[in-house]
Amino acid sequence: MPKINVLPKSIAELIAAGEVVERPASIVKEAVENAIDAGASHITVEIQRGGISYIRITDDGCGIAADDVPKAFLRHATSKIGKACDLDQISTLGFRGEALAATCAVSKVEMFTKTAEEDFGTHYKIEGGEEILHEEVGCPDGTTLIVRDLFYNTPARMKFLKKDVSEGTTVSAIIERQALSNPQIAFKLIRDGKQTLSTSGDGKLTGAVYSILGREISNTLIPADLTLDGVTVSGLVCKPVACRASRAYQFTFLNGRYVQSGTITAATEQAYKNSAMVGKFPVFVLNVKIPFETVDVNVHPAKTQVRFSDEKRVFTAVYNAVKNAILSGDTRPQLEINKPKTNTFLHMTTEQYRQTAVNLPAQEIKPQPKEVIKTPSEPSRLKSDNTPFFLRDEFKPNVTQKKIAVDIEKTAEENKETPVKTQPELQEKTQEREYSPKDEIKLVGEAFNTYIIVQKGDTIFLIDKHAAHERILFNKLKENHVAESQSLLVPITVKLIGDEYTAMVSNISLLNDYGFEVEDFGNESVMVRAIPAMLSKEDAESVIVEAAGSLTAKGSVDLDRIDDILHSVACKAAIKAGYITSDVEKLNLAIKVLDDKDVMYCPHGRPVAFEIKKYNLEKHFGRIQ
Ligand code: ADP
Ligand code: MG
Repeated sequence: MPKINVLPKSIAELIAAGEVVERPASIVKEAVENAIDAGASHITVEIQRGGISYIRITDDGCGIAADDVPKAFLRHATSKIGKACDLDQISTLGFRGEALAATCAVSKVEMFTKTAEEDFGTHYKIEGGEEILHEEVGCPDGTTLIVRDLFYNTPARMKFLKKDVSEGTTVSAIIERQALSNPQIAFKLIRDGKQTLSTSGDGKLTGAVYSILGREISNTLIPADLTLDGVTVSGLVCKPVACRASRAYQFTFLNGRYVQSGTITAATEQAYKNSAMVGKFPVFVLNVKIPFETVDVNVHPAKTQVRFSDEKRVFTAVYNAVKNAILSGDTRPQLEINKPKTNTFLHMTTEQYRQTAVNLPAQEIKPQPKEVIKTPSEPSRLKSDNTPFFLRDEFKPNVTQKKIAVDIEKTAEENKETPVKTQPELQEKTQEREYSPKDEIKLVGEAFNTYIIVQKGDTIFLIDKHAAHERILFNKLKENHVAESQSLLVPITVKLIGDEYTAMVSNISLLNDYGFEVEDFGNESVMVRAIPAMLSKEDAESVIVEAAGSLTAKGSVDLDRIDDILHSVACKAAIKAGYITSDVEKLNLAIKVLDDKDVMYCPHGRPVAFEIKKYNLEKHFGRIQ
């Protein structure tokens, strides 16, 4: 039988320390949190060799009174919790009373500290948990903590450290988070003698974000601000086009503390659904404030994981805050026109110009071939009543067009010399006029049977007609919930396999809510009796197959699956690039796009339109300087 020993205190301390201090960044995090708790407005962190050989944290906070200094280094010594019930109300960052004790157990620590009330400060040294020095000293108000030779007495742990550079990077990440969550504090980080980070401490989040994430990202951010049901959400989120390939630029702070919360991340990303490209992640810096008693931060020793007593409330508030921000703060992307290469002719005298012109090879001017309008090779999609499919409800001439027609007739009447115009001429005339009551929207034309070009005010918009129509149909489907349905004269059976069949059969009611009428037909097949009205019959089978795929997609929630199915429907029903579209349809589509803030991206996140400002064109043509 092995004998049971009670561990000597020094070994027990070392084991406990291991839980708090894993690497230099853990010390920096705890020490900076102490400085923040102490009310500092300037915090400077200096590290050498990634913090392994040297860390110094200087703050101008409240300092520690001479008598209290040794106590601060004892385990469970804290000025932040008095009694057990305080645990529910923790508003300070540190509260375990372990950080200083753990740090001094595994390194050589030195502290200078002074409170405003004291005439002198304290100089204290403690190594491996043993006090070495405690004396009076002249020093400024605040605290400087110096940590040298981390793990000098625990070589085994030393081995787990990464290269200096990566330890330094982890320290840097800690400071970035702290600076972002405390814009009122001026932070500085000095790595091996070089200042690598500095914030102004002016209290503005935008300023801190600019200093830390850089100009490019800052320029894409829009403010989010909302209080809902006791949850306050504020901060900055990126425009959907600026989403990144990773989650590296996502910062969540809960009651001032950096946290990783699946709920908050999911709520934010959900708000970008259908706006951001698939596989891209939003950039955000969000501060979420909720009553302290509804969150348990004590779940994980490093305290970045949190648990909410009411997940749904937090989700809803964050989702709405972000969604509102995107809807109100997003603007269409501007098409970058490349700066013209230095124009050789710009600075030439007339004489020089003539010389050059003479030397230029004569350019052959070929007659431009007449544009051949190709009809789409796919069978034309006609509804039974022979209305082109894209001339359904959403594109039927509305009041606007009728008004135009009346106006034109009037013009014709007023103008005595003009003979009564025939219908086609009238239509041509319509194109030349400025159209609608929002009458600045003017159809300029269409390029490649794909991009509708309109002009509104001093802006030209290039609209991808498929993306735009797809988005409009998608929004319509989402709004209607129960979509209009059309019965198929001859029901079709669709063969599915394995998981897809199972998923389809167990979600039949979901599909039937959106205008389908699908039945289990046994033998791994389903019978389709009706499809959403906007689809053409030829698409029925492929939409069902796609829907089955969406329903099988890993771990997706109902909302996502419905969206995916609606995407398929909208995509199939939308005008295709390359199709011929009439001017009225083009204009109507453009009006819809420009009038509706929610038609910014296609459901897959591709932009629907780009804009070019007149000002920029004029600049590029040298009309203005
Ligand atoms: P905790 O922060 O959990 O209380 P620590 O071990 O981090 O435990 O610190 C112990 C105590 O030392 C704190 O409660 C605080 O009173 C004091 N302290 C530590 N760092 C500072 C600082 N930079 N300025 C003022 N007081 C400090
Ligand atoms: Mg602390």
